[in-house]
Amino acid sequence: MRTLRLVTTLAVAGLLAGGVAVVAATPASAATAVFSVTNNWGNGYQGQVTVTNDTSAPITSWRVEFDLPSTSTVSQSWNAQQTTSGSHYTFANVSWNGTLAAGASTSFGFLVNGSGTPLNCTVNGASCAGGPPPTTPPPTTPPPTTPPPTTGTPVERYGQLRVCGTTMCDRSGARVQLRGISSMWLNWETAPYAENLSALTWMRDNWNLQVIRAAMGVEPAGAYLSDPAKARAQVETIINNAVRAGVYVIVDWHAHEAQNNQSQAVAFFGDLARRYGNLPNVIWEPYNEPLQVSWANVIKPYHQAVVSAIRAADPDNIIVLGTPTWSQDVDVAAASPVTGTNLMYTLHFYSCTHGASLRAKGDAAIRAGLALFVTEWGASNADGGLDGRACLPEAQSWIDWMKTNGISWTAWKLDVGTDTTNLLSPGAPVTGGWTNYLHGHAPFVVANMR
Ligand code: MG
Repeated sequence: MRTLRLVTTLAVAGLLAGGVAVVAATPASAATAVFSVTNNWGNGYQGQVTVTNDTSAPITSWRVEFDLPSTSTVSQSWNAQQTTSGSHYTFANVSWNGTLAAGASTSFGFLVNGSGTPLNCTVNGASCAGGPPPTTPPPTTPPPTTPPPTTGTPVERYGQLRVCGTTMCDRSGARVQLRGISSMWLNWETAPYAENLSALTWMRDNWNLQVIRAAMGVEPAGAYLSDPAKARAQVETIINNAVRAGVYVIVDWHAHEAQNNQSQAVAFFGDLARRYGNLPNVIWEPYNEPLQVSWANVIKPYHQAVVSAIRAADPDNIIVLGTPTWSQDVDVAAASPVTGTNLMYTLHFYSCTHGASLRAKGDAAIRAGLALFVTEWGASNADGGLDGRACLPEAQSWIDWMKTNGISWTAWKLDVGTDTTNLLSPGAPVTGGWTNYLHGHAPFVVANMR
């Protein structure tokens, strides 16, 4: 059942995207592999290969190989183990999709920079179409290297962002993994660290910060609902500073029960989208951490309302959507995603509490096609590290996982305090220059931003 649905989906997606199925299965004596384009953005595309066991007995492994023209390169792949030699690409099964019963299929995906499609395709050494191996020798000229620009601010380098497959791409279609930090709840900052342009520029130049998250508290006393003018002014200061510093900025509706104030969120994001949605800097995050409430009946309808308000004014900037259980149940969201474009989903982790089982939820969501953004994390307990403890080996596993999957992140949180996740120690000036004021997990965070 699952396989049939997968193949049908791929075939439809290929047709809708104007994709080409370059080979057709003919003999019933071998494995076959069919390529299709599932998403195309002009100078790049998302491809998929469906491997089918056309024999009458199970197979326990498969290996697909093909060449790309020298003008095109694979930037990312999933559901297969990729190895690359010049312009020759090999994709082997991973542990959970190598065994195929007679007639069964599985698929893997990849992103290509450039418009060239696979040539000389083989599966387990035979032609992908089921015929004899191709005789055309693979090209031996390595692809030209066109390194991304390394000068200028982050926004000068990457420009308008968009979702491409299960990750984020820059204006040229190259994968981008943004790294940065989140503010403290703006209503509880001990000093206006997040609102300071000098500090932001210093973090950009000394920490390689590319994105700052404005965590605008909503529900507590003194936050947005009780003092909207103050909270909005803080957020707008951070947006304007981000524009001047050339960094990305996440506008975070930092709430746990946002569905109870949906009309305020719709008005807030609609207003800001009208005034700032034209800027490439801005990323919208309408719901920080929903509690353990229904995705289908509570959170998703809220997201659809806010996404609709944003899209009425801003057709394209990325929107990152909170998920159930303090933004952990991304697998639940994956089963019923919100309709729209350039949508990503929030995953939060704290490494003394969360490990492999939460990464497995992330893997499941990615396999289902979701693009994730970790808008909060800490090398601490889930409470932010009240005990001051840091769990760096597990945090490193998370860092590696995010890098492998191209997942952008902002670490919790820019303020002075005793929690593990307070990045600064007492006396840190509000204007930056914090080399001697790193606290808690900050040295680990900074090392991984650079
Ligand atoms: Mg826009």
